[in-house]
Amino acid sequence: MAPTFTHEFNHAGYKGKVEVPVGLYINGKWTTSADKNAKTIDVFNPSTGEILTSIPEGLGADVDQAVKDAHTAFNTTWGLHTPGFKRGELLIKIAELMERDLDILSSLESLDNGKTFSAAKGFDVAESARVFRYYGGWADKIHGKVIETTEAKLAYTRHEPVGVCGQIIPWNFPLYMFSWKIAPALAAGCTVVIKPSELTPLTALYMTKLFDEAGVPAGVVNVVVGYGHTVGATLAAHPDVDKVAFTGSTAVGRKVMEQASLSNIKKVSLELGGKGSNIIFEDADFDEAVKYAAQGIFFNHGQTCCAGSRIYVQKSIYDKFVSAFKDATSRLKVGDPFEPSTYQGPQVSQLQYDRIMSYVDHGKQEGAKVITGGKRHGDAGYFIEPTIFGDVTSNMKIVREEIFGPVVVVSPFETEEEVIASANDSVYGLASAVFTQNISRATRVSGALKAGTVWVNCYNELHPQIPFGGFKQSGLGRELGEYALESYTEIKSVQINVSGKCGIPV
Ligand code: NAD
Repeated sequence: MAPTFTHEFNHAGYKGKVEVPVGLYINGKWTTSADKNAKTIDVFNPSTGEILTSIPEGLGADVDQAVKDAHTAFNTTWGLHTPGFKRGELLIKIAELMERDLDILSSLESLDNGKTFSAAKGFDVAESARVFRYYGGWADKIHGKVIETTEAKLAYTRHEPVGVCGQIIPWNFPLYMFSWKIAPALAAGCTVVIKPSELTPLTALYMTKLFDEAGVPAGVVNVVVGYGHTVGATLAAHPDVDKVAFTGSTAVGRKVMEQASLSNIKKVSLELGGKGSNIIFEDADFDEAVKYAAQGIFFNHGQTCCAGSRIYVQKSIYDKFVSAFKDATSRLKVGDPFEPSTYQGPQVSQLQYDRIMSYVDHGKQEGAKVITGGKRHGDAGYFIEPTIFGDVTSNMKIVREEIFGPVVVVSPFETEEEVIASANDSVYGLASAVFTQNISRATRVSGALKAGTVWVNCYNELHPQIPFGGFKQSGLGRELGEYALESYTEIKSVQINVSGKCGIPV
């Protein structure tokens, strides 16, 4: 049995003791590494900077074992051996257990990541359960087509599971990204070896208890916690992994893509970085646009791949917008993530804190104007004031690069053509938004934006039914919706010669 992390929660939303198995979950059992060189990984509380617990790390040997067990499960109990409706029932059971343990999962997510308890409960955990439920509904509806050719032929397609999937996820939405990966894979009949981020492993590990309780067969889901250069790299390069699904930075995504072709040709899906553009026209509903602009960047402390980190405002309303946006931002309360009135908790780690503050310093050095924020909040943990920069130019680092923190740049524009060009002037293409009351403009501009998601008069709204993914260097493939199932299935064409005669003269 692996060691356990026990935590006593006592906050307004939840009071109680929670136990999390903090080892590796392989073939339905909790264990520690088979490699005697394995050490432990310190898990920090981002609100204080103190170590919460040290958990056993996995290494390459553990990935090998997990992949082997995932293969056995695929070939004996899961894959084509469990009918879709049964896989669906299991996914829905998992969703129900997550809803039962909503407060526990939300508390753990908040403790480990620093996001507020209310956001974890209202968004991360609730939406993750919805993702499991949604794919539970799909599991018995994944089917091919009968294709007409000649009278002599019965032809049809089957959508078969790809096989063993290696999945690598980041720390910004630990449970939500876990659900985006695991739920469609299991619905399609794949088995999984998943590596959570070493920074935020607790909810993934708690989920292993729910898989066990739901009766997920051994080997179908394996969770190997470890570092990217060991567990992640081994998974991406493994000859017996059929597909790799990665969410994280573009820099690491590039490596994963290379590694995925070294020993075999894996199917690859990548959800990578972004530098979202949020365009506000003079005819927008002003007050709503201001609220969405704040939510668009500051939701999840700016640690959102699709964050609206570049705001473009039409010149005629620019000054009025900046003043209202500054007011809205200064009202966002930064502090203890368990305090109900808090909007923004700490950034996830010292490294992320330092990275974000170095962007803030760069912005100041390059001559951008700090409209509000730009400093540390408090003196413990990794808190940063929500920060708005004005007077920016398109070549500044803070305009071009993903900051992944509560930092936004605001610029004026005059014409539609000009703002489309500015919004598209990025190596990323994950998300954009358009605020206008003019339906023709909304349709025209959303058509011209090079992004996988365009929100019109809203921001950061995600639904299990709607696909999500990136143009350009923001990724490859789509998650969520029916589209995600495509990346977990192979299409097989079956041709039956019903005439019984050789159709090609010999
Ligand atoms: P990261 O790329 O540093 O790490 C992501 C995961 O990859 C982690 O589990 C890490 O351990 C692992 N990893 C690191 N090196 C590896 C290697 N060589 N081989 C295999 N795996 C390796 O990203 P992060 O800091 O955890 O997350 C932030 C990034 O994720 C941002 O760029 C953000 O935009 C992106 N993101 C994208 C989406 C999306 O849907 N497009 C969603 C969330 C986050």
